[in-house]
Amino acid sequence: MEAARIEHPRPWMNRPAAAYNFAFLDEGSKREIRRKTLKAVAIPGYQVPFASRELPIARGWGTGGLQLTLSLLGPNDVVKVIDQGHDDSVNAVSIRRLIAETSGAATTEDTAKATLIQSRHRIPEERLRADQILVLQVPQPEPLRRVERSERLTRRKHAEMDYSAMWLALYEGIVRWGDITLGADYPVMVHGRYIMAPTPIPRWDNEKLHQAEHLTLFGAGREKKIYAVPPYTDVIPLQFEDYRFRKESFDGKACRHCGSTDTFLDETTDEATGLTVYQCSDTAFCRKRRGEELP
Ligand SMILES: [Zn+2]
Repeated sequence: MEAARIEHPRPWMNRPAAAYNFAFLDEGSKREIRRKTLKAVAIPGYQVPFASRELPIARGWGTGGLQLTLSLLGPNDVVKVIDQGHDDSVNAVSIRRLIAETSGAATTEDTAKATLIQSRHRIPEERLRADQILVLQVPQPEPLRRVERSERLTRRKHAEMDYSAMWLALYEGIVRWGDITLGADYPVMVHGRYIMAPTPIPRWDNEKLHQAEHLTLFGAGREKKIYAVPPYTDVIPLQFEDYRFRKESFDGKACRHCGSTDTFLDETTDEATGLTVYQCSDTAFCRKRRGEELP
């Protein structure tokens, strides 16, 4: 397949795409990742170990998500890559370029047009459909790591559904601070069985996983784990009857660009006035709302 050529500042990156196997990884590796992905889909919220491959980007920079994307990619896919809501951050651009150059897949910034969306730290504001797959890059897949350092013991706790230490930690936070103090990466119960780390997405995005139409896949390259939330699965944040889970509140705030009051907002400083202002974290959604045509 003739891939679109994008001039790269480093000359050795300008080799023709034919120098690579389709979607970079060899067929055996892709098959192995797909097998592990199917297992993850079959056991929602369960962390499936996999043989994480070497990629031309460092582990910890999204290689888990990238391996999932590359193994799932077909020639007709349209890929969107975002980093903290942005399509144009260095990390997102590098990953998108690698995918496009080695597979020839089309790319987009428009969430609605994408079939595969790889993301870090955010789920797009637009509701995803059944024909779309969301891949999240995971730094730390183990939700129990904050209460148990041993991998052997966390595995046993999951197997025995022994989540008392997790509940105790939540309770201790309430005793000490008067409220649940967890921020991003708020632990969730998946399908009434496994406690899962939804990755450092804001609490705002947690509800987008619950009974979603789309498949969400989680890839941790450095930690060598894949897990999944299949469509129409219960994803419930941990909470107590008298201390409920609450998402971030933007009461009285609005996006400075599109005026939105129903999206996740980033706090920033206005360059001209020095005042604190707010803007949509999902920049593509914000531009779309302002009537801009997205590439
Ligand atoms: Zn906006």
